[in-house]
Amino acid sequence: IFEYAPAPESRDVVDIRPSYGLFINGEFVDGSGTPFKTVNPASEETLAEVASATEADVDRAVQAARKAFGVWSALPGSERAKYLFRIARIIQERARELAVLESLDNGKPIKESRDVDLPLVAAHFFYYAGWADKLAYAGYGTTPLGVAGQVIPWNFPLLMLAWKIAPALACGNTVVLKPAETTPLTALLFAEICQQADLPPGVVNIVTGAGETGAAVVGHPDVDKVAFTGSTEVGRLIAKSVAGTNKKVTLELGGKAANIVFDDAAIDQAVEGIVTGIFFNQGHVCCAGSRLLVQESVAEELLSSLKRRLSTLRLGDPLDKNTDIGAINSAAQLAKIRELSDTGEAEGADRWSPACSLPDKGFWFPPTVFTGVSQSHRIAREEIFGPVLSVLTFRTPAEAVEKANNTPYGLSAGVWTEKASRMLWTASKLRAGVVWSNTFNKFDPTSPFGGYKESGYGREGGRHGLEAYLKEIS
Ligand code: NAD
Repeated sequence: IFEYAPAPESRDVVDIRPSYGLFINGEFVDGSGTPFKTVNPASEETLAEVASATEADVDRAVQAARKAFGVWSALPGSERAKYLFRIARIIQERARELAVLESLDNGKPIKESRDVDLPLVAAHFFYYAGWADKLAYAGYGTTPLGVAGQVIPWNFPLLMLAWKIAPALACGNTVVLKPAETTPLTALLFAEICQQADLPPGVVNIVTGAGETGAAVVGHPDVDKVAFTGSTEVGRLIAKSVAGTNKKVTLELGGKAANIVFDDAAIDQAVEGIVTGIFFNQGHVCCAGSRLLVQESVAEELLSSLKRRLSTLRLGDPLDKNTDIGAINSAAQLAKIRELSDTGEAEGADRWSPACSLPDKGFWFPPTVFTGVSQSHRIAREEIFGPVLSVLTFRTPAEAVEKANNTPYGLSAGVWTEKASRMLWTASKLRAGVVWSNTFNKFDPTSPFGGYKESGYGREGGRHGLEAYLKEIS
């Protein structure tokens, strides 16, 4: 690890208010629940106090969305597009502010929020703005569902919001969205952007709070569509709670993706892909390449190269532009990562981390690699949702596929080989919603994303992402 001069982004670019209300019918209002604090996970400092929405508050938000649905769905698509384009442009104008706030509330490195999250957030609004007046032409008719109840996690707070709000609005629906309780601030800044864009009141409503608020959104009888991204455990509860209703549901849940490296792969390129696959966003990524499957004959070479590369990563202040690994989002998530990692050692795997000192305050976990992992180990089966890689080896392509598919999840996978025939054969056998070839964690608003098996159902992104927000497809 070499010396470097820190280059901190200024936190003064964002004006954080001491307290925030709920955003209902175009204005900020008080919540009836007990307010909660959101903290900076890199310092444990309180950033703001945030309102908590009760069932009655959620009802107000749903009523506002219902009323606005009449107006919004009656607008010509070209008019809805103008609002979405306006929102996209304001996001670009305020990107620095949004990126700093995202890094403060979430703990992710500023270079990721600035160069990955924010450009993608704007791109989703531009992309779906482009669809708003082409739905009928594309054969979709104009049949929005009504009020969409959307519940999102903390790992990509603004990006998950964009995945959900942009297609919903483009199709003519109105929304009530609940951000995660540890990362509510950028959704509330987005509410301000809706005001700035003169979006009609009630088209977007943001209700903050914990799981009970999410349950009230999902369970509200006047919600027509439920879109959830989060854990498989909560996804199951939601699937049960909407069973027997007419609500249309999409669930984007957990993952335990395999990143498969064959012996003919370009090793240096694969190493970069492995690093991006599991250490991007501290591994708080549903499609993270958390299981490395490497062909036995190249395992030693690959692992020594990977360890060398990991020794150059910089862990620390998320607002430092040189930081590669930021803070873990919460004390609870840190405890979960620690607990699961400890089972790795207890069950007989070998643990390795590069030399790195962790800051005294905040929630931190070093990049960690487990070798000697067997398929029965918990670290090979359960989603850790942290910067922890489990390495397994294989001898034949068939064995690689069998191991990759040996998981209850099926969100994504990566394949590294220079042989096109091997790539295509492997990809066709993998039961995963996305298979990346010679790359990993690549996202684009034009591509559908979603899971097999316990990773959920429905697709977000691309043309498919529209179908989740329309009544019928002609
Ligand atoms: P979580 O399921 O604990 O919480 C997600 C959201 O659901 C939060 O807003 C939470 O308040 C809310 N919630 C909790 N209980 C609820 C209930 N009973 N009813 C309704 N809402 C409820 O997940 P998390 O810890 O915030 O996020 C991590 C998980 O999200 C991981 O498993 C990850 O894989 C998954 N994830 C999936 C995708 C994807 O696209 N498939 C993307 C990002 C994250």
